[in-house]
Amino acid sequence: FEAKANNQSIRLFHQDIHHHLTRSLEIEQGIKRALEQDLFELALQPKFMLEDMSLCGYEALLRWHDPILGTVRPDVFIAIAERVNLGKVLDAWVLNKVFEQIHLWRQQGYDPKPVAVNITANHFADAGLFKLVQLCARTHEVPLDCIALEITEGAAMGNSPVIIDNLRAFRQQGVKVAIDDFGTGYSSLGYLKDLPVALLKIDKVFVQELENSRTYGLVNAMIAMADAVGLEVLAEGIETERQRDILKRMGCDQGQGYVYAKPMSLKEIEKSLA
Ligand code: C2E
Ligand code: MG
Ligand code: MG
Ligand code: MG
Repeated sequence: FEAKANNQSIRLFHQDIHHHLTRSLEIEQGIKRALEQDLFELALQPKFMLEDMSLCGYEALLRWHDPILGTVRPDVFIAIAERVNLGKVLDAWVLNKVFEQIHLWRQQGYDPKPVAVNITANHFADAGLFKLVQLCARTHEVPLDCIALEITEGAAMGNSPVIIDNLRAFRQQGVKVAIDDFGTGYSSLGYLKDLPVALLKIDKVFVQELENSRTYGLVNAMIAMADAVGLEVLAEGIETERQRDILKRMGCDQGQGYVYAKPMSLKEIEKSLA
């Protein structure tokens, strides 16, 4: 009986892996198709100052509703894109779209707050990144400091000197770089002190657990530490007024989350500009 049960579970296990690989391959091919057929869309989520609730920027978030695959979540397809070397192509698509949109808005007389673009993991170690951003800005005749960038902790802590070169080049041009999902990686605090970045984004897992006294202490310490090394700090995933009030009392500078605004379509953002 035991042998039979094992065979059964091995078969299920194989089916599972098979299904997983098939899905990954479908998504990989889907990304290429979506790029060719222009199926990706951007949503923008506003960022606010906790002090006075004033708008201080946006974050660009990819959306993909595929006619064959259905809606694919960005954390799913971004991870696959990174694995199969499509990360840089996606970044280029988002950057181009963001600069194009800012150009259109500026033409209409609007002066939108900076739009932050998420950059895939390996791209910050590529010497071509700064040139790519510069080229996008020139092509659409938009000043570089109309955008900002977000990179994950792991990507910022990599040991390539190119990462620092890129960070310095962006800083010089007034492009603020944020460390995204802060607290979930393995950053060395000593390293952080010397990193030319402007903002720490505290991951939403901590914000959602603020009622837990240890998490509360941890978030409090992160905010104090950011302040001590001269970085701005933003809390992501704020869903309740209570979370917002606690973070404000802790001295957190900025916030983002459903309590303020969900990610919105470009059309909705345009209405809010007008
Ligand atoms: P992220 O950069 O940390 O983005 C924040 C995520 O939290 C977004 O999920 C956003 O929709 C979600 N969020 C915002 N407010 C709340 C809230 O109050 N509660 C909760 N529960 N969630 C909230 P999304 O859009 O599904 O993106 C997931 C991740 O996928 C992003 O995490 C980012 O790592 C990646 N991603 C999304 N768009 C892009 C992109 O254009 N380029 C790259 N490289 N990565 C992207
Ligand atoms: Mg982000
Ligand atoms: Mg984040
Ligand atoms: Mg996150």
